[in-house]
Amino acid sequence: MSIKENDVNSIPRLEAKGVTMKFGGLVALADVDLQVPAGRIIGLVGPNGAGKSTLFGVLSGLLKPTTGSVFMDGVEITGAAPQVRARRGLARTFQHPELFASLTVREHIALGYRVRHHKSRIVTDLITGRGLFVKKDADEDARVDELLEELNLTNIQHSAVVGLPLGTSRLVEIGRALATGPKVMLMDEPSSGLDVAESEDLANTMRKVAEHGVSLLFVEHDVPMVLSLCDYVYVIDFGVKIAEGTPEEIRANAAVRAAYLGEESDEIHISQADADLAATSAGDLA
Ligand code: ADP
Ligand code: MG
Repeated sequence: MSIKENDVNSIPRLEAKGVTMKFGGLVALADVDLQVPAGRIIGLVGPNGAGKSTLFGVLSGLLKPTTGSVFMDGVEITGAAPQVRARRGLARTFQHPELFASLTVREHIALGYRVRHHKSRIVTDLITGRGLFVKKDADEDARVDELLEELNLTNIQHSAVVGLPLGTSRLVEIGRALATGPKVMLMDEPSSGLDVAESEDLANTMRKVAEHGVSLLFVEHDVPMVLSLCDYVYVIDFGVKIAEGTPEEIRANAAVRAAYLGEESDEIHISQADADLAATSAGDLA
């Protein structure tokens, strides 16, 4: 079963069509097509410099492609600002969680919920914490309780985020993004810096999120995680999509195996040094 057969009649939640991105003479993306159907987990993999972050930038509105188009629910949003995309239901998490040291776990989730009802400045509100000054509505407590429960954060809801393990910080960031009520979430290397148990928790959370109908697109170095979690995977290299398919198809793809899944593919596994660096930067938030 490929996603194309299965979702052939439905309009993708998020779609890139023929996206080319040039930086001066460098072609960072060349005619890339990608689809994120409703409620699916889609992985984007490729070695360093392949163009993954550039594609995320194009999808989230930080970069305008040189040519090509981006659509949400069939509506073209190629030139739309990140705030406009957020209002249409696009949320994202960052490689290094950006949380407020002085706020509790619960306040972070409540913040996401409140900016949802005060959308004019959703992005800056999330980053500055200004959303907390928006008045609370009647459903807030119940929705925040529900999210805390779902993410297993209830027992630490009143703790400040200072000093939380990186894996827990990631869950808080995901909770805040979910509280905005997104249709699609973009996640940049969500498992980077996590230990095995934390990565498993994260994967379970991502599955639950998708079961609730939120589509996930994530960039990930951890290829085994991608293959075990995703419904469909895109592989890019030097800005070109070299493969796409179900995890089984990707595993069986000779070119992908040779280039990325073999023993020699240390590029796609996070090094201990990178993991330490990520853990340190998370600690800096404290
Ligand atoms: P990945 O995320 O897959 O590691 P990137 O999307 O960051 O790759 O980069 C793809 C290519 O585009 C690289 O060669 C990178 O140096 C280049 N690049 C990315 N952003 C810029 C930029 N703002 N200006 C110039 N070159 C860039
Ligand atoms: Mg990158």
